[in-house]
Amino acid sequence: MSDIESLRNRIDEITIQMLKLFKERIDAARQIGEIKKNNGLSVFDEKREEQIRVEVTELCKKINLEENIGKKFLNFLLNESVKVQTDGKQTHLTIFLKAKKLEQEGKKIIHMEVGEPDFMPPPIIKSALAEAYDKGFVRYGPALGMPSLREALAKYCTKKFSADVKSENVLVSPGGRFSVFLAISTLLNPGDEIIVIEPSWPAYRDCAINAGVKVRTISTNLENNWNPSVSEIEQMINSNTKMIVLNYPNNPTGKILSPKLQDQIVDLAKKHDLYILSDEIYSDYAFSDWKSVLSNRYSKSIITQSFSKSHAMTGLRIGYTIADQGIIEKMVKLQALCMTNVAEPIQYAALKALEVDTSQNTKSVKSKIDVIVEQARKIGLEFENPEGAMYLFAKVNSPQFDGLEFTNRLLDHGVAVAPGEGFGNYKNFIRISACQDENKLMKGMMILAEVLGESR
Ligand code: PLP
Repeated sequence: MSDIESLRNRIDEITIQMLKLFKERIDAARQIGEIKKNNGLSVFDEKREEQIRVEVTELCKKINLEENIGKKFLNFLLNESVKVQTDGKQTHLTIFLKAKKLEQEGKKIIHMEVGEPDFMPPPIIKSALAEAYDKGFVRYGPALGMPSLREALAKYCTKKFSADVKSENVLVSPGGRFSVFLAISTLLNPGDEIIVIEPSWPAYRDCAINAGVKVRTISTNLENNWNPSVSEIEQMINSNTKMIVLNYPNNPTGKILSPKLQDQIVDLAKKHDLYILSDEIYSDYAFSDWKSVLSNRYSKSIITQSFSKSHAMTGLRIGYTIADQGIIEKMVKLQALCMTNVAEPIQYAALKALEVDTSQNTKSVKSKIDVIVEQARKIGLEFENPEGAMYLFAKVNSPQFDGLEFTNRLLDHGVAVAPGEGFGNYKNFIRISACQDENKLMKGMMILAEVLGESR
């Protein structure tokens, strides 16, 4: 046998062995997942992962394997374990779907689980859609978005966020979620690491796992006013770290970072040459001092925005990204591949929506938040006053309380809220959305108080 053939045989043997070991590893991970579930433990365990990361680092040195590669391989294995352990996890979407099913069966449900404004999109949208037809905006168009909309968005953001945005920095996409997906999928590679501050909207983690990217979690807590620790973030950074995600005003806590803390995190990203993905979808619902990451003028920042919350245009599916031209060019390639372009009539409607004064929406959301805050205080829920967004993230003080069990029981009584565990390791929390008229919110909070009384 020639040398090459025997080496190939050896490689085949090793590959088969590796696959068999991988299967054993997955089976063990699945069993651990069951134990975690039965004992109410979180799937994610940064400390445990760190132990094995240290071992892998030492082994790489010992056997002379490039540390970067060893850790990327470990990240792949860790992600596969996460995948088998998170199967069937409940989030606000699972509750929403259950609620919809109950409604189909004739039950009345008060929806306090979804993040969807209850008011209509601006009336101008209706005439804009008809106008788009008359003007012939019903064709294929550039993947980046209609030039007139990109130009208008550049001006709008420059003015609104004290920034310097040009149309080449704008990518129009079908909603903020898609922008997040594009950023993570095109700027990162499998085995790279992304830092997510929890509690958080689950899509950052889900998009990362989908792209083979490892999520490193910074957990924040109510006691510390949901402030992330800069030194904890810095300690987490290694040669595989590529991105930090920010989302302020935050879903689910309503937190806004102090400008100083936000600057410190952006400075950290600059120091280590990392991307900052700043999801600023709730910027119109900032009720205390807030500034866009755009004002930091950092070339590796990606700002995702949307018409969903500010203009209540959730069903029209339109949002946009602001970033350096090089980043936009990478993102648009995948967008073109997936969907050619955002529907032209919707882009035209968004262009018209930019002319509308949305301050009434801001007032409406604020007064709804005030209603749930007041009721939650009466009930005795523990929370930080939301400084923005559309939610209240509250801890329920009861030793035997399980958020998931509670949200399911509450649903049987006609009120849907989101279980805390959809946002990270927050089993004793629930997220209450301020997206119904105030009477419904009051009624929902009354029912919540009753069900809570029964379960205490
Ligand atoms: N980002 C955050 C933080 C959200 O909470 C949501 C929706 O709930 C989105 C993005 C998605 O918005 P869009 O409708 O623009 O995709």
